Amino acid sequence: MLENISKINIVRIGDCITYSSLKEIGEKILESFQGMIEDFKVCHHEAPAVERFDALFLTMILHDEFGGHVLGITDSDLTTHDEDEFYNTIFGGKNAMNHVAVVSTKRLSPSEVVSQGDYDLIFDRTVKVSLHEVGHNFGLTDHASYQQASDGSLCPMSRGEFNKFGYWGYVRAIIDGRGMNFCDECIHFLKQFQPIRHPLAGLLKDKFYLH
Ligand SMILES: [Zn+2]
Ligand SMILES: [Zn+2]
Repeated sequence: MLENISKINIVRIGDCITYSSLKEIGEKILESFQGMIEDFKVCHHEAPAVERFDALFLTMILHDEFGGHVLGITDSDLTTHDEDEFYNTIFGGKNAMNHVAVVSTKRLSPSEVVSQGDYDLIFDRTVKVSLHEVGHNFGLTDHASYQQASDGSLCPMSRGEFNKFGYWGYVRAIIDGRGMNFCDECIHFLKQFQPIRHPLAGLLKDKFYLH
């Protein structure tokens, strides 16, 4: 059965973010996915304040609890356990078997959060990573290149090369460089979109490595 992904549940995991910020994220998602996502609902998933969640497991829990199209937001780390990596942490990921994406705000925050500008920066980055993961839910894939939208900002699906920049360099160059609008190629793809289940199991990851 095809799932309706024109409505999205934005789920707060634990007490990580205010209700009004979640609503703002929902509004931004609606704007960027105009014609694709018509409505959002803000929800809460009770969770302990832990250092990290297993990202794939979390997507499965959220799928069972909410079903349909889900974006989960946490301030804990999201981890994966790829066999060839000692330790993996991701900005966000999506379960390839359903339409559940998760995003972590933890490593998007400056080391000290004191001013409104700091909060705005975290919010902005959270929106940009969220747009990227929700884009994956619509079948969009990463741009290895620095693809621009018509407003001159990087397309939210831009991925770039993590190793070239190092962690903070990557956040500033790629995530901060992204805008709210998709590039022509992505817009064209979205117009043709038909919801299908991805045949490959597992988590589609947007990762960085901690050494
Ligand atoms: Zn990606
Ligand atoms: Zn694009």
